[in-house]
Amino acid sequence: MIVFGLEGTAWNLSAALVDEREVLYEKSATYTPAKGGIHPREASQHHAEHMARVVGDVIAYARENDLQMDAVAFSQGPGLGPCLRTVATAARALSLKLEVPLLGVNHCVAHIEVGKWRSGSTDPAVIYVSGANTQVLALRQGRYRIFGETLDISIGNAIDKFARTVGLSHPGGPKVEELAGKARRYIPLPYTVKGMDLSFSGLSTAATEAAKSHDLADVCYSLQETAFAMLVEVTERAMAHAEKKEAMLVGGVGANKRLGEMLDIMCRERGARFFLPERKYMGDNGSMIAHTGLIMFKSGIRTPLAKSCVRPGFRTDDVEVTWGPTNS
Ligand code: AMP
Ligand code: MG
Repeated sequence: MIVFGLEGTAWNLSAALVDEREVLYEKSATYTPAKGGIHPREASQHHAEHMARVVGDVIAYARENDLQMDAVAFSQGPGLGPCLRTVATAARALSLKLEVPLLGVNHCVAHIEVGKWRSGSTDPAVIYVSGANTQVLALRQGRYRIFGETLDISIGNAIDKFARTVGLSHPGGPKVEELAGKARRYIPLPYTVKGMDLSFSGLSTAATEAAKSHDLADVCYSLQETAFAMLVEVTERAMAHAEKKEAMLVGGVGANKRLGEMLDIMCRERGARFFLPERKYMGDNGSMIAHTGLIMFKSGIRTPLAKSCVRPGFRTDDVEVTWGPTNS
């Protein structure tokens, strides 16, 4: 079977076609703010402007290759309200036009499912780190339970905010990583783990302050080391508690090599395996929505139009995981 997937919770509008084995096609349009961070209304206007071209391109590919679409999946939440509404409207129209079922997909669950599909991990503790989310999760009794999460802003947001205030353009993550590679020393910054939860807001502010009197590369390095060590600590405890022998890193911040390296070391030290999907499936993409839609569809899930309203605060653990050999 073939599923059409549409992602657009924040900066990336992306449509894709997948079948059981592979990604058949993907087309994206990226919103980059002229200045500052992501503006929800501007991002949704971007998505609306590019919708016909992005979706049309994928439909044209399906027609040219004689592919029949069996369902339309879309990112129902969490995400920015105006962006979600634009995406849901397009997905509903397409499902009606093609006369195929609609599937509302949880964006965070999609990051996890595409990660498992692409990396081969089967039962991991998941480190989900993105521009909007920071969670450590593991599947237990039919749901991805959140073992630890940020109490304020996400790690991606903390790094991007710091980057903007020191004059680096959005998104700052890759630029901070590059500068961190040139550092010579570690500057102590606030390390905030409360129980299993994390806080990044004070760390971001402290890094901004430190940049006024220290070398920027040293501050970038120290910010990464501190934030990532916090994540590794919580992940290790989640693995011990949930008895997971695998860890998997997903979300846009997962592109960071140092974070992957630190998690890999922790896993090896405790005799566990570390999994990292290909980079293109780390950040937001249409394929993750299409793939998750496909496995949901196969387990019998459908989203009637009346239940297709957007869910900006849709939590990962709201989703009942009814697919796959997943319960432990
Ligand atoms: P997502 O919301 O999952 O699409 O991820 C976007 C976030 O990933 C933004 O906050 C980026 O700054 C961050 N990001 C992308 N590449 C890197 C990197 N190499 N290191 C750290 N953060 C990154
Ligand atoms: Mg995301």
